[in-house]
Amino acid sequence: MRAWEANIRRVVPYVPGEQPRGGNLIKLNTNENPYPPAPGVAEALAQMSVEGLRKYPDPTAHDLVRSLAEYYGVGEDQVFVGVGSDDVIAMSFLTFFNSEKPILFPDISYSFYKVWADLFRIPYETPALDENFCIRGEDYLRENGGIIFPNPNAPTGVLLPLSEVEAIVRGNPDVIVIVDEAYIDFGGVSALKLLERYENLLVVQTFSKSRSMAGMRIGFAIGNPRLIRALNDVKYSYNSYTMNLPSIRAGVAAVKDEAYFKKTTAKIIATRERAKGKLRELGFSFPDSKANFIFAAHESVPGAQLFEDLKKARIYVRHFNGPRLDDYLRITVGSDEEMDALFAFLEEYL
Ligand code: PMP
Repeated sequence: MRAWEANIRRVVPYVPGEQPRGGNLIKLNTNENPYPPAPGVAEALAQMSVEGLRKYPDPTAHDLVRSLAEYYGVGEDQVFVGVGSDDVIAMSFLTFFNSEKPILFPDISYSFYKVWADLFRIPYETPALDENFCIRGEDYLRENGGIIFPNPNAPTGVLLPLSEVEAIVRGNPDVIVIVDEAYIDFGGVSALKLLERYENLLVVQTFSKSRSMAGMRIGFAIGNPRLIRALNDVKYSYNSYTMNLPSIRAGVAAVKDEAYFKKTTAKIIATRERAKGKLRELGFSFPDSKANFIFAAHESVPGAQLFEDLKKARIYVRHFNGPRLDDYLRITVGSDEEMDALFAFLEEYL
């Protein structure tokens, strides 16, 4: 080993889902939205001049902050934006999780949490989900340095009722509780409602799923102004210009079109509910999902094998290794046509 190697930070990175090349495939592996972004997004991008790229973007991304504040009925000083919710959550770990006590997140959850905790050297504990893949609220009422969980949870899709989210926030007034609502628009009730009552709550959402803009990389957090100020202080200590100009413009255009947003999320919800019936008929079982994916295990075919055989048929889903996960596939809810192609394959295969 070279001497300098001793000074290199060793991390086990997060592994994102595969982005296969080439056409003629059905991609149900990274929870992307099957529909295009709102029509106004294309217009906003078409109106941009390349000349405009000469200058730095607005470091406060004020236009986007204002749009989100108006849409969600909060103050502009309550909104923080970042490069996808991954960026927002990473900044939040740096900003809010500085206790010697362990932070808490579920054992089966978004696997990036563990990676950020290791990267930033934050101690953590992972309370187990119950036998139905539900978060047990009482596990989060012990001493801790902060809490984060997705709602609905990933990769299970299980939604924690708002009353139980509130019990966790209320029971932890001395730490920040982050609710990661990446999938909340597919039928969940947002914790944004609780913000008036709890200054220790931070709600994080993304444009990647319900607003169909994973490629643009826009995420945001809403919380009380003191939390948002602290997040911005950390952001400006790291990288002032996180949001590029096209993202700001496209983000503003997406927020404007509420009708399109409602229509496309309703379509995905309808397809998901139909998919539940079909998967059950085919011998799958799954916890009830309120997200744009279903976490399903087949009664006779092991998850890893089904994953490989689907891939050979150019149908991509996600498979995770690990106790309680191996048997399952996380299947993103695509368009009706994509789901029908999946069901046709499964009928034949099984
Ligand atoms: N939180 C959860 C629970 C997710 O599944 C994802 C998607 N990988 C993210 C956050 C991050 O999404 P993005 O950075 O695209 O906003």
